[in-house]
Amino acid sequence: MRLRNVTGSREMIAANDFVIHDENEHKGKWKEIFGNDNPIKLEIGMGKGRFIMDLAELNPDINYLGIEKYSTVLLRAIQKLEERQLPNVRFIRMDAEYICDCFDEGEVAGIYLNFSDPWPKDRHAKRRLESRQFLERYDHILAGDGRIEFKTDNRALFDFAVEEVAESAFEIKALSYDLHSDEKMMVGNVMTEYEERFSSQGNPICKYILERK
Ligand code: SAM
Repeated sequence: MRLRNVTGSREMIAANDFVIHDENEHKGKWKEIFGNDNPIKLEIGMGKGRFIMDLAELNPDINYLGIEKYSTVLLRAIQKLEERQLPNVRFIRMDAEYICDCFDEGEVAGIYLNFSDPWPKDRHAKRRLESRQFLERYDHILAGDGRIEFKTDNRALFDFAVEEVAESAFEIKALSYDLHSDEKMMVGNVMTEYEERFSSQGNPICKYILERK
């Protein structure tokens, strides 16, 4: 995602109440942040955050944490959340590589991965959020019945992601190579910014849902 550099974005983020600043301090205690026992779901690589905010509005009994690596991108999400004032959403600026440092075993009820960066070079495969290395991290933090849902229009990334599942603790529960033509998998579909852009260009959207074997 390319955005102009917003001057002082780190400072603006540091001063914002919707952003969790000391994420490792909350390991095992995320329920305290929301003040209730509702399940906690993550979107990793949320970008400008429309998906997670729409989901949160539809599901007030679920808490959502949006994880984004870059301050300039996160700032856009914060501006939107300030307008929408959703009590069940918080953001974390972090690299998801370190996700096991801030969530306890089984603390997360679900993970969404939407239009993840493809990292096309083979030597960067382990940076892909759907790689076996990331699936192992998700295995640590996801509850027993937790699901991983992944959408992309990048067929090469999706094929890679499907292959990686065999090397993980998960199995594919549902899969589509053309989500928007799949009546069953489209039930309750919430569009992301990238999904809207690429599907309007005619690109088919791939999706899988994983559960534990
Ligand atoms: N999910 C959004 C959507 O579908 O509209 C944004 C997709 S954008 C292509 C991918 C986002 O993931 C970018 O904002 C990028 O900064 C973020 N990202 C990539 N790798 C990440 C990582 N390791 N940890 C956290 N965020 C990451």
